[in-house]
Amino acid sequence: METSRRECNALFMLVRLFALALVLVLPAVAAPAPSNPDWTLPYPPFHIVGNIYYVGSKDLAAYLITTPQGDVLINSNLESSVPQIRKSIEQLGFRLSDVKILLISHAHFDHAAGSAQILKLTGARYMVMDGDASVVQTGGRSDFHYGGREDMHFPPAKVDRVLHDGDEVRLGGTVLVAHRTAGHTKGCTTWTTPVTEKGKTYHVVIVGSPNVNPGYQLVKNAAYPQISADYEATFRTLKALPCEIFLGAHGSYFGMNDKIASRNRGEAQPFVDPAGYQSYIAEREQAFRDELAKQQGGH
Ligand SMILES: [Zn+2]
Repeated sequence: METSRRECNALFMLVRLFALALVLVLPAVAAPAPSNPDWTLPYPPFHIVGNIYYVGSKDLAAYLITTPQGDVLINSNLESSVPQIRKSIEQLGFRLSDVKILLISHAHFDHAAGSAQILKLTGARYMVMDGDASVVQTGGRSDFHYGGREDMHFPPAKVDRVLHDGDEVRLGGTVLVAHRTAGHTKGCTTWTTPVTEKGKTYHVVIVGSPNVNPGYQLVKNAAYPQISADYEATFRTLKALPCEIFLGAHGSYFGMNDKIASRNRGEAQPFVDPAGYQSYIAEREQAFRDELAKQQGGH
């Protein structure tokens, strides 16, 4: 009995020590940011069309656009993605240090958290759409929805050029057009560029995000009063864009895995998918309209 009481006391002390350790450690550990295993799963880099290459992970897209005067990188992804992006660029025979301009799809941590590190490594100029520029400069703290979510903050980065709807980003003969497709963020950007390969010109569209995230308030949103009107404008813009090559901020938008599988089976250019683009946009617009009707019905 004596022994067992001593063991009991020892156990009690251990539990107390553990509880104390938890109290001391917990405040320093922020809740982990939302994640998806496909965001960090490495993916073999590949050539898409012309001077455009995929250098992202299985689901977090990053694009390298090479030119004779240096390269453009679209999306820096997570802080932990930077070595992965660098490795992908090198596997394709290019160099991260040749990146002269950094762009993003939108100012959420899964597309922009690595920016500060990439700018430091490359000295590239950071060009971000009005509405997202302040968000990247505050490391996500001024985001209309996630500003208070410490787990979704990221290292702030200085913006060298604030873009507006229709602005062009030019480098070495390549022209990228920034389309403000807001709603998901206030400066969400869809990038387009014409690419010529083997005498054929393709309109490339990299969709920023047409998604209404869980918890987004589309009606009477004091932090973003025009959110619903912005989504409306976004769908008008996206439907009107000419698109042969359909790409986006996440591989899941455009069925990247299936398209790579088709290519592996011998299909020459699976990324030419104008019908897939239109049906994706139509489906996303319907999802927005359903959510809007639901929220309006609740008032
Ligand atoms: Zn997002």
